[in-house]
Amino acid sequence: MKIAILPGDGIGPEIVHEAVRVLHALELAFESETALVGGAAYEAQGHPLPGATLALAQAADAILFGAVGDWKHDQLERALRPEQAILGLRKHLGLFANLRPALCHAPLVQASSLKPELVTGLDILIIRELTGDIYFGQPRGRRTALDGHFPGTEEAFDTMRYSRPEIERIAHVAFQAARKRAAAGGRAGARGKVTSVDKANVLETFQLWRDVLVEVHAQYPDVELEHMYVDNAAMQLVRAPRKFDVVVTGNLFGDILSDEAAMLTGSIGMLPSASLDGNSKGLYEPIHGSAPDIAGKGVANPLATILSAAMMLRYSLDRADAADRIESAVQAVLAAGLRTPDIWSEGTNKVGTREMGDAVVAAITGKTIPSTRR
Ligand code: NAD
Repeated sequence: MKIAILPGDGIGPEIVHEAVRVLHALELAFESETALVGGAAYEAQGHPLPGATLALAQAADAILFGAVGDWKHDQLERALRPEQAILGLRKHLGLFANLRPALCHAPLVQASSLKPELVTGLDILIIRELTGDIYFGQPRGRRTALDGHFPGTEEAFDTMRYSRPEIERIAHVAFQAARKRAAAGGRAGARGKVTSVDKANVLETFQLWRDVLVEVHAQYPDVELEHMYVDNAAMQLVRAPRKFDVVVTGNLFGDILSDEAAMLTGSIGMLPSASLDGNSKGLYEPIHGSAPDIAGKGVANPLATILSAAMMLRYSLDRADAADRIESAVQAVLAAGLRTPDIWSEGTNKVGTREMGDAVVAAITGKTIPSTRR
């Protein structure tokens, strides 16, 4: 197993450091190599995604990524901004499937913006198509309108498009994930369920999406398929989120719904993600950014990155057993009352990045979880 480690900017190096310590604590046989990415790479080598970093990512079985971005680089031309690194990696590695679990850990139920009775036991997997849709469709641009409501005035336009193979491959990812979750115990003995979110009532692109989902579903009779319009899905996510199991949708709708689902769980510092190609190679990262406001202070929550390492073991490195060990260790430290400031509440132990990493390592190696009180 070869893992490319790309810590990036801001809190990236601090949180990735803890995730790497956790991986070492599992005593797995893996090789790893670290490279610069984002603003750190721009400063050292003049580009946010240097050739050597891309080559390392291409050669690796999986990539563990921190975060990129820093306010001091916001004035750079777009192609040189740190955030371009992540877009470049997705494009060059063909990472078309973005998996974001939204899991509400029992001890953190109070942190959710919804009532505890709505989110207790919440466990959704949002699958967002990542390389198509209106974000990449051509043509796009600005021009003088020839027709429409105001001919002769400036207008801007983008193109929403999906091809059949693009929809087929993301549909397979969703049905297979639902099948795996059901096999692992999923929704209390129920069949795996895929909710396909679209806007087939208005958009041609999403009528094709729905037609293809129905066709691919024929190969997965053990999984339930339901269709939901995106406006209704946005509403149901806050009304009865536990009705969902796996949600699959396009790039634009997935961008919005996955953030909405993240908020249901309370903290941005807890949520991991995976971006996969068609051969289980993937890039694993927390859903949050580089948090420049707290970088270097030792207070960032490393758990989203540690849980991203668990997803890496499960989806790319075929070590579900090791992934389970990490996830159980995280549950144990939360149950022991340890909290970084972003998830702290009265009566729990406030700890820093390093102490949280120490605690997860201790839980994995069977040692007593330290209970540092600040
Ligand atoms: P952010 O996610 O970095 O931070 C939002 C808020 O959440 C901040 O208050 C931050 O302190 C807090 N936060 C984030 N992660 C945390 C953690 N692990 N522990 C505790 N608190 C945490 O979003 P932002 O402030 O909008 O963006 C900052 C930079 O990150 C920007 O340059 C942005 O472009 C970049 N960004 C990068 C990625 C990525 O690398 N994939 C994703 C999103 C944003």
